[in-house]
Amino acid sequence: MRVFQCAVMGSGGVGKSAITVRFINGSYLEWYDPTNRKQFNVDNQPCLLEILDTAGIDQYLTLNDMFIRESEGFILVFSLCQRDSFEEVLRTYDAIQRIKLSEGGRIIPIVIVGNKSDLIDEREVDTTEGEKLSLNWNCSYYETSARTSININSVFEDIVRQLRKN
Ligand code: GDP
Ligand code: MG
Repeated sequence: MRVFQCAVMGSGGVGKSAITVRFINGSYLEWYDPTNRKQFNVDNQPCLLEILDTAGIDQYLTLNDMFIRESEGFILVFSLCQRDSFEEVLRTYDAIQRIKLSEGGRIIPIVIVGNKSDLIDEREVDTTEGEKLSLNWNCSYYETSARTSININSVFEDIVRQLRKN
């Protein structure tokens, strides 16, 4: 069985841990599996995904450089209700490019995630903005809610599909 490592990155409070717990345990803001790994099937083939749930990049810059070096794929999360966190995705993307391209320029598996889609009235970032970014970067974009669980599995299935091609 293939084993992949991915990092979940983004500003504090956007829902990185909530998304990870929702995917691994199927619960919302409850018990946290300290191993952060899950075996599941994508396109009828099993895989083991190890998920690194990180802290914000501006808070622990050198730590994040290390996370980036050690990960093969990246889930870049922002909150649809917080424009600042969308800008942060651009900075994280630049950091990934800087580090990964210096290791030899392969296509880097990336999924952009706009989380908290359930908070419809608090939205600050439009769907078209996320879609535009994903077109520019040739990666995927999903709008999720860790609270309702919408699109959570799709995010992790997508990163696995990209990692398999890598
Ligand atoms: P992290 O700092 O990125 O790991 O963010 P957390 O996972 O700790 O989430 C921060 C807060 O955002 C939590 O206390 C949740 O209440 C809230 N949150 C996370 N995901 C969602 C979501 O999809 N919808 C809503 N409404 N709140 C969310
Ligand atoms: Mg967290």
